[in-house]
Amino acid sequence: MKQKKNNVAIIGGGIVGSLLALILGLNGLKITVIDRQKKDKLFSKNHYVKSYALNQGSSNLLNILNIWDTIKTKSQPIDKILLKQGSSISSIQPFELIFSNDYSKNNYLFHMIEEIYLKKAIVEKIDKCPNIEYLYSSNIVEQFIDKNSTKLVLDNGQIIYSDLIVGSDGYPSSSAKKAGIQHINYSYNQSSIVGIFKHEIPHESEAVQIFLPSGPLAILPLSGNRSSFVWTNETNEAVRIFNLNDLNFLNELNTAFQNRRGQIQLESKKSMFPISLTIPKKVTKERFVIIGDTAHKIHPIAGQGLNLGIRDVAALAEVLILSRRLGEDIGSRLVLNKYSKWRNLDVTSVVFFTNFANKIFSNDNFLKKFATGIGFKLLNESKTIKNYFISEASGLSGDIPKLLKGCKL
Ligand SMILES: Cc1cc2nc3c(=O)[nH]c(=O)nc-3n(C[C@H](O)[C@H](O)[C@H](O)COP(=O)(O)OP(=O)(O)OC[C@H]3O[C@@H](n4cnc5c(N)ncnc54)[C@H](O)[C@@H]3O)c2cc1C
Repeated sequence: MKQKKNNVAIIGGGIVGSLLALILGLNGLKITVIDRQKKDKLFSKNHYVKSYALNQGSSNLLNILNIWDTIKTKSQPIDKILLKQGSSISSIQPFELIFSNDYSKNNYLFHMIEEIYLKKAIVEKIDKCPNIEYLYSSNIVEQFIDKNSTKLVLDNGQIIYSDLIVGSDGYPSSSAKKAGIQHINYSYNQSSIVGIFKHEIPHESEAVQIFLPSGPLAILPLSGNRSSFVWTNETNEAVRIFNLNDLNFLNELNTAFQNRRGQIQLESKKSMFPISLTIPKKVTKERFVIIGDTAHKIHPIAGQGLNLGIRDVAALAEVLILSRRLGEDIGSRLVLNKYSKWRNLDVTSVVFFTNFANKIFSNDNFLKKFATGIGFKLLNESKTIKNYFISEASGLSGDIPKLLKGCKL
């Protein structure tokens, strides 16, 4: 039976788990990543529908890992964000809020990247790093943690010992459950339909989000005459829309979007994701820590979930690498508590903001709509408040980890 002793075992090789593996591996730690997915699925275009709006902090981290160079040509800057309010699909109210790159220190606000390109670029770097073993198609049948070490038994009999286990298997998370970490789950009774479409009229690097009563519709620019859509609705309505044939689906999408991009055509399959707010009662235990969606699954209304997970990665990597250099035990409560304290304020603020934004915008109460409409108008005229929002969304405010500033560890 194969046995291995490592510094860190990472359960779940999504973007968050893989990025952590890469940073730790490049800094000399021995890492095993365990993912239940097959390798060929990972590289199949059909498997992916999501695209991400990466903020400046996330781009800086990818830059320092030399991943940004590989994906830059596939990415699309967002130069302008237009937020609009609608009381029904066919009635969009006149109030609008515009953020342009004048409010950013860079000449763009975010960069859009399709999930497949980002995942491929990270895995290619992992394959070249001798300190990382990435196990595909692997399921954990036993997970033991005690004061001195951890042990994972895989379904093929392989045993992995390590100083620390990181749970990055998304939500629901079997690694967190096995470690005795409980989650609080609040369903929004909303689901998001996601995909990519081609269009006739160029997007001119503009992202649009329309707040409709049953949820927001976001159209985000991709390279070429292509855009990603994230269309959130109450779940019953989302299921109805999802089950329409492509022609009827595109007609409804275009009506909701006021035909802003002319004729549209689906480029990818569409997928539907249930939306919930899920937060754990704690993020660390002795020799165990959770990151990414396992540690905070949030509403996609502000496109912040992955950016938040990347900030977890940057903070955890910095804590572990510096503690190891000082000769500390990286699985100890002392070290892991440094991480959880560091992340607490940022995660709580983003959870609060996304939850509040969805409550305010996803409703059809006339007074609330009117009040938020006036709020839009006032905000739109205030350069200071716009600057504040852009700076918060850049992921560069507060006590930020070195990697997010583009500095090596
Ligand atoms: C509709 C929608 C739109 C979004 N848009 C944006 C956006 O624009 N910007 C943004 O920043 N974020 C966005 N997000 C959020 C983003 O998708 C997530 O935050 C991000 O994908 C989380 O990554 P992760 O690696 O933590 O988890 P996941 O992507 O869920 O990865 C988990 C990994 O663990 C593996 N796994 C699961 N269980 C096991 C197991 N038992 N054993 C081994 N492996 C396991 C899985 O195979 C997978 O590879 C969006 C989310 C949704 C739903």
